[in-house]
This record gives sequence, C-alpha cells and structure tokens, in this order.
Amino acid sequence: MNPFLNLGIRHDIVNAITELGFENPTPIQEQAIPVLLSGSNDFVGLAQTGTGKTAAFGLPLLELLDFTKNYPQALILCPTRELCLQITNDLKNYSKNIDNAHIVAVYGGASISDQLRQIKKGVQIVVATPGRMLDIINRKAINFSQVSYVVLDEADEMLNMGFQEDIDQILSTTPEEKKTWLFSATMPAEVRRIAKKYMENPFELTMGTKNTGNANIEHEYYVVKARDKYAAFKRIVDFNPEIFGIVFCRTKIETQEIAEALVKDGYNADSLHGDLSQQQRDRVMKRYREKNLQLLIATDVAARGIDVNNVTHVINYSLPDEIENYTHRSGRTARAGKTGVSIAIINAKELGKIRQIERVIGKSFTKAEIPTGFDVCEKQLFGLIHKVHNVAVNEEQIEQYLPRIMDEFKDLDKEEIIKRFASLEFNRFLEYYRNAPDLNANTDYEDRGRERGERGERFGRTGYKSDYTRLFINLGSVDDFTRGDMLGFICNQSKISGKSIGKIDLKGVYTFFEVENEVVDKVQQGFKSVDFQGRNVRIELAGDRDGGGGSSRGRSGGGGFGGGKRRDQAGGGRREGGNRSGGGGFRDFSGKRREDRSEKRKRY
Ligand code: AMP
Repeated sequence: MNPFLNLGIRHDIVNAITELGFENPTPIQEQAIPVLLSGSNDFVGLAQTGTGKTAAFGLPLLELLDFTKNYPQALILCPTRELCLQITNDLKNYSKNIDNAHIVAVYGGASISDQLRQIKKGVQIVVATPGRMLDIINRKAINFSQVSYVVLDEADEMLNMGFQEDIDQILSTTPEEKKTWLFSATMPAEVRRIAKKYMENPFELTMGTKNTGNANIEHEYYVVKARDKYAAFKRIVDFNPEIFGIVFCRTKIETQEIAEALVKDGYNADSLHGDLSQQQRDRVMKRYREKNLQLLIATDVAARGIDVNNVTHVINYSLPDEIENYTHRSGRTARAGKTGVSIAIINAKELGKIRQIERVIGKSFTKAEIPTGFDVCEKQLFGLIHKVHNVAVNEEQIEQYLPRIMDEFKDLDKEEIIKRFASLEFNRFLEYYRNAPDLNANTDYEDRGRERGERGERFGRTGYKSDYTRLFINLGSVDDFTRGDMLGFICNQSKISGKSIGKIDLKGVYTFFEVENEVVDKVQQGFKSVDFQGRNVRIELAGDRDGGGGSSRGRSGGGGFGGGKRRDQAGGGRREGGNRSGGGGFRDFSGKRREDRSEKRKRY
C-alpha cells in the first residue's frame, strides 16, 4: 500500500503527488501528517527548507477543509512572494483531483485587482505575504471569520523582515478557536515568543537538532585577501564546470556589480535584488528555474523562499550580517535528499565568524584551497572530455554533414583529432590562467599555528620560508598518496632527510612540495628515470607550473601579476585574464549566453 495512504491521505491526493514523484514521505511528513490530520493541535515544526514541509502541512490541510464551501478556511502566511507562489503552486498540484478546490496567492508587486477578483469568486485557501494581505483586509475585501487553520511558514524570516505587527493584525481577524501551525528553520527567542503568543500547548516537532543545517550540505571556507575575492570566486566557479549556484552578497549594489562583472567576463549570471521590478525578478527566476541561468547573484531578502531543486553550490560571497541567515542561505542547496556545498569566501579576520556559524549549525567547515590555475585547466579539460564523450548525438541531423566532416579530417588519425578537439577550448583556458597567482591568503590567526605544529617552525609570514624551493611532482592523492606517504617517497628516492622538506600540498594528480634550496639538485637527480606503477615520475620547479605559490627560487615574476591581469573597479577586485567569453566555451551552460548579455545591457 502506498505509504501516504497509510498516513491517512486520500486516493485523489495520493494519485496527484505520485505524479509529482512522491513515493515515500519525508521524515517531517511522516511525523507531522498524522498529528496535523487530527486537526486538534497547534503545532510548531522546526524544519529547514527542502525537507518537504510544504506537503507536511499542505496534505493535511487538503484533507481537513470542506471544498464544497466557498469561503476562506485556511490562511498560510509566508515571508516572500517567491515562497508564496511556490506554496500556491504546490497546493494546486496536490489538489488537482479535488473538485472545486480554490487556492489564491496574495502578494505585493502584482495586480491587486486580479487577486481581489479571485477572492470574490470564492476560495478555501489563501496563501499570502503579510503586507498585501493586510491591505486586502483593510479594504474589507475578505472575511476570515470562518478560518480554521493558520499556517505561519518560515516564521523566523517573517520576523526578521519586520512583519510582526502585520501578522498580529491579520491574526486578529481570524477566530480564537482556529489552530495555528508554525514552521521555522531556526528557533530564536522571538519565534519562541510568537509561538507562545498564538498557540496553546502546541505539538512540537524538531527535525534534526535545533538550528542545525541540513546534513547533506558540506560547508567549506576559502581565505583570500579582500582584493582577490572576485578572482578567487571565479576560480572556484571555473573549477566546478557544472556549477548551478546561488551567490549571496550583502547589498543590492554588490549583487548588481558582481553580476555585471561576471556577465562581462563571459559567465552566465544575473542578479536578483529588491530594486528590480517584479517583472524583472520573475524573468530572472524563470531563467534560473529553467536552468538557463547558471549563477544567480542574490541578496538575502530576494532569495528567501527560492525553491529550486538541484542547486549544487551556495556561495557566500559575503557572509551574512546575521548568523542565522547562513542556515537559510545554505538551505537553498541539498534539497529533497540531494547533496550540496555551501562555500564562504572570507578574509582572515572573518575566521571568528566561521567558528560562530559552526557553533550555530553544529557542523564544521572544511578549509579549502583556492585552486591554482593549473588545477582549473586540468578540471576544465576533463570536464570537456567528459562532455564530448557523453554528448547526445543527433544522428538524423548530423548525418548530412558527416561525409564533408570526414573529408576534412581524412589526413588526421584518431589521436590527432582528439588532441585538436581538446585543444580547441583547452588553449583558451591555458592562456587565461597563464601565470595565475596563488590566491590563498595566509590565515595568520590559526592555520599558521597549525602548520607550525605539523611541520616544525619553518614558515615565515608568507607560509613559505625563503631558503626553500617549491617543486612539482606528477603524483598525488589519486595515486593513493597521503602527505606522509609523499614525504617518505621523496626522502627515499632522493636520499634526503625529512627535515629538508617543507610544506607539502597534495593535490589530485600532482603535488607541490618544498625542499631546502641546497637539496633541490639531489631531489631532481633522485627522481631521474623513476617509474610509479608504469608511469614516468616527473619533478619540475613549481614556478614553471603554477606561476605562484610563494617559492623564492626558480620562479619568474615573483608573485606579480603577469600578462592579461588588470585591476578593475567592477566587482571590487583583481581580475584575472580579462574577458574569456570568446567561443562557445566551457561557460556555455545553456547555449544562451550571448542573448543573456544583450538582454542585460538593455536592462541596466
Ligand atoms: P519543501 O521543503 O516543501 O520546500 O520541499 C522541497 C522539495 O522536495 C520540493 O521540490 C518538493 O516537491 C520535494 N518533495 C517534498 N516531499 C517529497 C516527497 N515525499 N518525495 C519526493 N519529493 C518531495
């Protein structure tokens, strides 16, 4: 038997949600539905977005209301119009097999007369943002005297946004004996207070521990200098070719500047903030939802309630002022059982804030390193190779061109053709990242201490001691090396003491390591004609590979910014390589990049 039927949901509704792909109830649905179906409790649900809470309250509501009657019986209040539309849409989907079910969305920024008309026709469920709801109540255009259920969704957000008074006024027009169901991602004192104020002995349900973020989210932070933030951010994006992300900024201006700089640099990005007209916001959200937009740059307020599945990364370009907001931001990824990454790009002074957030979410962050230019090129190359391998071939369409294509390639063998296809895009990236500097800032506060502990008192302010040289070796963690293994391997092969080795940066298919200047030749000699599992092991001066990393020897340009670097106002920081939007390119997520840019130009 369908598990939703077991929970007490009727066939009509179960059929509708089965079509939406709901096979099993989520934990909150499993626990909340039986309680709410009784219709006799006030209820407090402490749950993150993405846990299935809309159905947790929506399905019982549909069971409890009398759809033969045409007056408002349930009122759902939520903080933003996006969430309002999302909930309305979800409820309409769940109730599509119920006769005469009328659900209306009431929110600001859209025609009030349409909303009034729908209300007049008769509705059972009103889903509303507080401001517009109050406006309609003040016009005496709605009668809530027979409301049996009020849902306060994302209650913490509504309070953050200053809706307390509006909510008080709205609820004063509903009957005393109604039941109130409150959902909140966090439980600050203010939410506790309103729970007390509006409810009697509520049934409380906590999914996970209080204020804890979704367990499927990995939290990472990168430490960079303020001026490198934009460049570092782009590296992270480039290192994740399939990213579908939301990037949070602190202000509307920052949001717009970052989005514009990204578009200029050839990325598929757009901004969402409160200064856009409703139409513009709708258009951005539509493109994002349809995945025609890869990066949504948003303010906290604008992004509230965004429910888009498959968001791979949330990037905190700036940390939120309110720590509680971090939970909301990161909750935009890892929805409906998926996994996701929440990234914070910070400067060393903000480490304290990361520790505070860790305490609030009850999870640790991983300190991550901004990928080197070399890392990015490698990742992009294999991203491309993977794409070529898996591309869906339209046999019918391509067939007519094949003879001519074959003819063009007749003088090249398979290997040569593969090389050229790969080089077509790879060359652009190589050019772009030539001499890319190391963007990781030294975290003077704690990590230097950690490094000292690990490898002795060797590192100066920059983290690299001046009488050390940084070398590259073409073996890394994918070859099953740990840093300890690598240390042993280098010592054995070169016949040098471990004391001569400094910092070891173990990467995927390669490693950077430091050795004392006087043993560099010994190491190079030691690795002459060494094989590792059939592969020739190569040692090179790191300066020749990544153009950065702080070694004092064997590096040209000494940490300066090579050709193609420029400082730029937009985005407030250092840019790498200028515009790289030349060809169809790695960035071409949707095939619509050019259109996006011209549309954007018109808009601003
Ligand atoms: P919510 O927390 O209500 O915003 O839901 C997050 C996402 O999970 C939405 O896209 C829902 O459609 C989806 N969802 C909710 N319940 C289920 C379920 N039982 N099975 C599969 N997906 C679900």
